[in-house]
This record gives sequence, structure tokens and C-alpha cells, in this order.
Amino acid sequence: YMTRFYVEYTESTFPRAGSHTPGSEKTPLDKICVWQGDITSLEFDAIVNAANEQMMGGGGVDGAIHKAAGKSLLEECIARYSSGCAPGDAKLTGGYKLPADLGPRGENPVVLANCYDSVLQIVKNENLKTVAFPCISTGIFGYPNEKACRVALKTVLHWLQSNPGWDGRIVFCVFLDKDKHLYDKNVKKIFADP
Ligand code: ADP
Repeated sequence: YMTRFYVEYTESTFPRAGSHTPGSEKTPLDKICVWQGDITSLEFDAIVNAANEQMMGGGGVDGAIHKAAGKSLLEECIARYSSGCAPGDAKLTGGYKLPADLGPRGENPVVLANCYDSVLQIVKNENLKTVAFPCISTGIFGYPNEKACRVALKTVLHWLQSNPGWDGRIVFCVFLDKDKHLYDKNVKKIFADP
């Protein structure tokens, strides 16, 4: 249901996405959208958590995901990832398919870009088709919102251009009104026709 909702949302927001005809190559813009709300409500193949090194749960989106997933998620993290997660790296948790991704503390564009790349590599390797990212590092970790948004969009665009065979859908799941405005504005700029 949510996947269908998402595709419809994309087509209404970005008219070019609707113009895709079967047989023609999809553009990166046909594969993304911005959606505002609670990431735990999305029934996607993968939702991305912005975790901490320990992967033992925390506040912000991490707290919301652990609460929604139940204690089995924490048990799996303890059992499988006792050494945690390094900044820029991503770990796939079994069962719930919630990849725990660790963003940088503060402004570090290379590590932030690595987060998006690490997740998309897992998504592709695991043959997942739908993934939703929160605004990694922009909460407790303090990355300036617009700079983080631009890194996220540029990294994902570059990944889609480098992996044109991946025919999935990526949602930028924004939570705050200011991020909704930033993403809408910058998607238009960064994903615009070359
Ligand atoms: P970080 O430690 O990486 O900064 P935070 O969880 O503090 O992670 O913040 C990342 C972003 O997630 C912020 O924009 C915050 O508003 C947002 N957020 C918080 N709860 C949710 C939720 N349930 N769904 C989606 N995004 C959320």
C-alpha cells in the first residue's frame, strides 16, 4: 500500500516522473521522492536508522525505530553487531530489514556521503526495491540542515547515475517542516535536467 502511495505521490509532485513510458529508461528523478512523516510508518523493503556507534538504541529517529520494531531489534543488534557501527558505515539488521546507519557527528560531508552510499550498496546487494532515508545527522548530531540535504541529494543522484540498472524507489523521509522545504527546493535544483 505504501509503495503504491509513494509512486503516486512522486508522479503528482514531479510531473516528469509521470511522463515515464514503459520501455524508456527511467531518470534518477523517476526514482526518488520527498515524503514528510514518521519513517516507521512506511512499509518499505528497508528503512534507514540514524543510529549511534553502539547500535543499542537512542533518541530521535533511533528511539522511534526501536520502539516500533520491538525488543527483537535490540536483541539482534546485541547478537550480531556487538562491535557496533563506524561513522559512514551501515549495517543490515535481519528480520525487520532496518539498516542501522551511522552518520557523522557535526559537519563531515565525506562521512555523510558514505552513509548514503553504504546503505544503497546494501539495498542493491540484498535486492531490495524500496528504501526510506531520514535526515541523517541533522538532529542530535548537529549537521546543518541545508548542507546535509545537499550532500544527501547529490550522493543519491550520483549513485543512481552510476547504477542505472537498479529499478527501485528511494524516499527522503523528512520529519520537520524546515527539512520538507529544503528537500523540495533542492530536489528541483539538484535533480533538474542536465
Ligand atoms: P542524528 O543523531 O543522526 O542527528 P536524529 O534522530 O537526532 O539523528 O535526527 C535525524 C532526523 O530524524 C531529524 O531530522 C529528526 O527530526 C528526524 N526524526 C525524528 N523522529 C523521526 C521519525 N519518527 N521519522 C522520521 N524522522 C524522524
